[in-house]
Amino acid sequence: MNLILFGPPGAGKGTQAKILIDKFNIAQISTGEMLREEVNSNTVLGKAAKSIMDKGDLISDEIIMSMIEKRITKKDCKNGFILDGFPRTLKQAKHLDELLKKINLKINEVIEISVDEDLLLKRIINRASESKNIRDDDNSEILKNRIIVYKKDTLPVLEYYKDLNKLKTVDGMQAIEKVSEDILKLLT
Ligand code: AMP
Repeated sequence: MNLILFGPPGAGKGTQAKILIDKFNIAQISTGEMLREEVNSNTVLGKAAKSIMDKGDLISDEIIMSMIEKRITKKDCKNGFILDGFPRTLKQAKHLDELLKKINLKINEVIEISVDEDLLLKRIINRASESKNIRDDDNSEILKNRIIVYKKDTLPVLEYYKDLNKLKTVDGMQAIEKVSEDILKLLT
């Protein structure tokens, strides 16, 4: 099973992806986590990505697509995968379609985790205050930019899947377990 988890920053995509990969024995592909690994390992890509991520802006489509192309063909994806935080632009979504066609795969479901903006800010501020391992981009100023970028560049992707009749939505303002339950209902 190949899924896309869709939603604004702080919607809980990562949390839900972790629950689903255990349940279905599939791989989580989080472009944000992959980029943070590059930053932590101080690679050339990591160094270039850090300043962009610290502003809450998007990394170029070309870089993201080449990361995805390598990742999606790895062995641990043979049972399926969950894309978390990708695609984030229309260009990425269209590239993904072409790539999947080439390797004879398809996306089974695109699931939107829907949350409102006030709750997002609260969640990110909590995440920043509770976590020992604070993400550099978890603060309210950067989050505001991440939400602006989400609306401008990523919302069109939602429309794209909606037009293709592929989109299903769950209410992300419920407890984590209830959100998982609703996602599982959509998948079974
Ligand atoms: P995330 O962990 O998904 O919130 O991503 C953290 C940051 O990594 C984002 O704010 C972007 O700067 C970058 N990033 C992650 N995924 C993508 C993507 N698909 N396209 C462009 N930039 C991305």
